Amino acid sequence: MQGLNLGKTRPKKTTREVHPLPAASPKELQARLGERKVLLEVSQRRNYSYDGIAFGATPALVVLPESTADVVEALRFARQMGLPIVPRGAASGLSGGAVPIGESLVLSFTRMTRLSVDPHSRTALAQPGVVTAQVSERARPFGLMYPPDPASFRTSTLGGNLAENAGGPMCFKRGVTGDYVLELEWVDDAAEVHRLERSAYDLIGLLVGSEGTLGLITEMRLRLEPLPRHTRTLLASFAEVGQAAEAVSEAIAAGAVPAKLEFMDNGCIRAVEESFRMGLPVEAAAVLLVDTDGDDPLVVEEELSWVAEACRAHGGVVQMAANAAESEALWRARRSVSPAIGRIRPKRLNEDIAVPRSSLPAVVREIEALGRQYGLPLVQFGHIGDGNLHPNVMFDPKTDNEARVWELLHEVARVALRHGGVLTGEHGIGLMKRDFMKEALDPVTLEALRAVKAALDPSNLLNPGKVLPTP
Ligand SMILES: Cc1cc2nc3c(=O)[nH]c(=O)nc-3n(C[C@H](O)[C@H](O)[C@H](O)COP(=O)(O)OP(=O)(O)OC[C@H]3O[C@@H](n4cnc5c(N)ncnc54)[C@H](O)[C@@H]3O)c2cc1C
Repeated sequence: MQGLNLGKTRPKKTTREVHPLPAASPKELQARLGERKVLLEVSQRRNYSYDGIAFGATPALVVLPESTADVVEALRFARQMGLPIVPRGAASGLSGGAVPIGESLVLSFTRMTRLSVDPHSRTALAQPGVVTAQVSERARPFGLMYPPDPASFRTSTLGGNLAENAGGPMCFKRGVTGDYVLELEWVDDAAEVHRLERSAYDLIGLLVGSEGTLGLITEMRLRLEPLPRHTRTLLASFAEVGQAAEAVSEAIAAGAVPAKLEFMDNGCIRAVEESFRMGLPVEAAAVLLVDTDGDDPLVVEEELSWVAEACRAHGGVVQMAANAAESEALWRARRSVSPAIGRIRPKRLNEDIAVPRSSLPAVVREIEALGRQYGLPLVQFGHIGDGNLHPNVMFDPKTDNEARVWELLHEVARVALRHGGVLTGEHGIGLMKRDFMKEALDPVTLEALRAVKAALDPSNLLNPGKVLPTP
């Protein structure tokens, strides 16, 4: 790949030569790209009006690009029409990032699915529509894996993962999505294509986590890691949520760097048991689910024993998985949390905070107390090793006051900010937390973010109305 040549590189020149002028109407765009790539019928467009958390406007048109050249064509058309672009992957996002607001063109990347693995360089070259899980599946025969594993990894796409800088259970030990991006191809708001490698300034770092507001990601080279030879799993149950959080810091202080370190409170445990009967301890106030891994079985075992000791020191009852099947059953229970709690009430809102690990015991206790104070079903789970928690509030719009649900969520976010945490650990700001940015950031920082947006998207075409609050 070439190095940075921002504003000068036009690697897709042929696109420009074939179509010197952008299409002048949606029909013309459809004629140029082909009928299957441009959706104009309202019944089709409506399917692109939501993400995993919210419904929005029906987009004016939907483009399903199959190549970077198609993306360029769609962007040039959007510029000509003054239509905002809403990039979209699998729409599993939980902050409203892919939700259209007002007239817009949705660019759905799900057909850009080219993926190849190079075992020699231990990298994967991928288009943004590749489903996350496929990278590890393709890498496994070479003894390699792609660690970033959002719980949605069987549906979410790499483009969405990069745009949100997704995390997951494996990210505590090995790092989040952004740590795996070596090179990037992206299209700017002027429909110019650029290729980036890691260099100063770190523009890859800027584009990763920018939620589709600074550029469109069209290709990426990802780092792969060797598969560990041995893995051990334990489940520790606690009589009080704060004790589980205390055990986390203690285990890490003892030198353990678990491959996965997850937390579920009693509400999650009960929901999983009611829906799926996985054998979790329903009386526990909270559980920690922990994996240690590596190439030396003795080291893996020893690390697990440090975690077990830390859990016992804080009142935990520890149960070791005897084999891979038992371990997989426990992780299936963890992955079932989201669908299971979705059955508690017809609707739910999902928070996503991250706090320093030392604050975790106080934070989980305060959040539990807030749920009681508001009298609403609130459950907590998350990648607790990263300090990342997902308090979820379930409600019935017919009987519960939705404004109170939002108020409770804002209180949860304030707990995080009070304890030196941040508004999002992995789901992004999107629409959901946009207006909260004023409370979380000082005015100078906010202005700096606005300046970055203005520099990279001067025409404000790329996912406008997301991330940054209205001035
Ligand atoms: C059950 C469940 C579990 C989840 N667990 C996790 C978890 O463990 N960790 C985690 O991090 N998230 C999790 N999520 C949230 C979500 O899956 C992630 O945010 C994921 O990264 C979104 O990917 P997507 O393809 O669905 O993107 P979308 O929701 O379609 O889009 C997300 C954002 O990316 C932008 N975007 C998409 N493609 C591009 C592109 N090519 N170029 C530029 N911008 C683009 C969109 O505009 C939007 O702002 C979970 C969601 C669900 C429903």
